[in-house]
Amino acid sequence: MKRIALVGGAGRMGQSLAENLNLVDGLVVAALVDLHEPRHLFGAAYYSSLEATPPAQIDVVVDFSQPDSVELSAQWCARYGVALVIGTTGLNPRQRAAVEAASETTCVIMASNFSLGAVLSERFAAMAAPYFDRVEIVELHHDRKVDAPSGTAIATADRIRAARSAAGRSTPPEPTERHTIEGARGADAGDGVRIHSVRLPGLVAHQEVLFGGPGEGLTIRHDSYDRVSFVQGVALAVKNVRDEPSFIWGIDEFIA
Ligand code: NAD
Repeated sequence: MKRIALVGGAGRMGQSLAENLNLVDGLVVAALVDLHEPRHLFGAAYYSSLEATPPAQIDVVVDFSQPDSVELSAQWCARYGVALVIGTTGLNPRQRAAVEAASETTCVIMASNFSLGAVLSERFAAMAAPYFDRVEIVELHHDRKVDAPSGTAIATADRIRAARSAAGRSTPPEPTERHTIEGARGADAGDGVRIHSVRLPGLVAHQEVLFGGPGEGLTIRHDSYDRVSFVQGVALAVKNVRDEPSFIWGIDEFIA
């Protein structure tokens, strides 16, 4: 049985994970860690910080909070040799460095998207990338998301660029010469891969990767309609944490 401490346990993701990870064989949510008392405890103990959480009762910390807090989670996990699964997005370079430092002492698995469909859509985008001249990513999220573009869009752009470069392809020059309104062409994620971020109430997490080639287009679309879509991927990560120090980016390798 793997005992989980959920950092951000009172948040939207934390509450959904607390409810649903408890239903997965071999996993139990032992602690909800949050600045605020969670609305539901789902049988877990509540702690206001990891510092207050007994390390002997925790096998894996799962962090879905905010970037500052990830740094604290990384330090705590490194100190006590507890594995860390990170879903929080929008980390700055200092926070990323803290995570990488922790992975020299313990196992860290970090993913910008734990939904299986999203992971597969990234894989499909990388497969298609060498065969199309142009690609643009439209990511659509709920209106309380604080970072843009989404971590998933950045990771998708990275995989597309890597697949193109491995195939010796690059994007043709940008056609737009005049920006009547600044930003109309979205953000350049490198090598001409454009990302457009949409924020609207009612959305959860959605992404379209639009490829264009001579006389044809290919759209790869993924929709998370509910936060429960992230549970299977988080459970996979928790079950696959290693005993030795390591840094694993994404859950792709756990999906055959
Ligand atoms: P949320 O605002 O609803 O919840 C965040 C929680 O973290 C809040 O309850 C807050 O009180 C708590 N928190 C903040 N600082 C803390 C600290 N120092 N210690 C403990 N708790 C602290 O946000 P959310 O919608 O649940 O999303 C959380 C994060 O997860 C975001 O970064 C989001 O982008 C990310 N996310 C990732 C995935 C993925 O698949 N990787 C999926 C969904 C959301």
